[in-house]
Amino acid sequence: MTTPLPARLDRLRGTATACRHNARTIAALTANPGCARRALLDAAAVDKTVIARELGFPPRFGQSQFAITRGNAFEAMVKANGCAELLALLRTELDLSVPEVEYYDLASVGDNTANAVRYRRTRQLFDHAVVTGEGTLFDHPLLRLDIAGATAYLEPDVVALRLGGQFHVVEIKSFAVVDGQADPAQVAAAARQSAVYVIALRELIADLGEDPDALVSHNGILVCTNDFTNRPTAALVDLRKQIAVVGRQLSRLTSIEQLLDELPDGVSFEPGPELARTVAGIDARYTPECMASCELAFACRAEARQEGTVDVLGRGVCDDLGGLEDMATVLALADGSVEPPAEFDDIARLLRQARRMRLEIAG
Ligand code: SF4
Repeated sequence: MTTPLPARLDRLRGTATACRHNARTIAALTANPGCARRALLDAAAVDKTVIARELGFPPRFGQSQFAITRGNAFEAMVKANGCAELLALLRTELDLSVPEVEYYDLASVGDNTANAVRYRRTRQLFDHAVVTGEGTLFDHPLLRLDIAGATAYLEPDVVALRLGGQFHVVEIKSFAVVDGQADPAQVAAAARQSAVYVIALRELIADLGEDPDALVSHNGILVCTNDFTNRPTAALVDLRKQIAVVGRQLSRLTSIEQLLDELPDGVSFEPGPELARTVAGIDARYTPECMASCELAFACRAEARQEGTVDVLGRGVCDDLGGLEDMATVLALADGSVEPPAEFDDIARLLRQARRMRLEIAG
């Protein structure tokens, strides 16, 4: 009898610290869909921060404890008293007509916080809302998304609203909007995460037999702090591009079953002397973008440098190198110590030119 996928993933995780997928990890995974290492670590719900530390390359990104605490306090303030602040924002700043409010907190069902129970309750309430038109606010809905054949539960700390007949995903972030402008990188990251939630919510609506595109808006609502105060402000964000990109990348992920089949028997991500060998045995696809999005970036960069692949130079340079894969060949073509094959004539000429210029500048 074949072992079910969840059991195989539990075995792969072993006693390693668990860490659930969230919209940020899914958005990051879809940014590098060719990386089997990240796909397996995330599918097995392994805490990559712990793995990176075990490998001797602790991550150097992520929010400080101060920023996390501040973010949680801001979110709690926006959601206090049945999301009173949020409703005021929607009515005054976005000019949305919010009907008589019904508020549901789905963080637990009674005392039960099990994923399956919360997902069933979320599904039931959305079904009720679709049929009756009732149900305005859903706090902490639990959504589900198929990631390369493995189910991931998403616990957005957002609220889905029914406005003008459509559900909207709301993302609450504590970064500042100053004079109507916010950090573009933070807005882009928030938009990618919201797109993941929209896709998951559309799956739920489709599962109810309804039209997901008609019922789930492609506009997300982003709530941020205003001008460095603790006061919230809100904006509608068009997520169509992000939804298309994330959706396309999700459909391109190699199936987790297939990746598991390629692993040797009995391997796991348990901390211990075998961990480095296990991680090294799974294909990675390091790019400089990993630095901003994956906890294993320093470990994978060191590995890629040692292997001498051109991937460390980034996608743009790789494209310019037209299929040359290792640094040694690139450098040899640049200094003319090897003759280029005919198909690399143009690239070799540009490399020699770039080297000449560099030497001239260096004096
Ligand atoms: S840092 Fe490593 S594991 Fe993470 S996405 Fe990049 S290559 Fe994959």
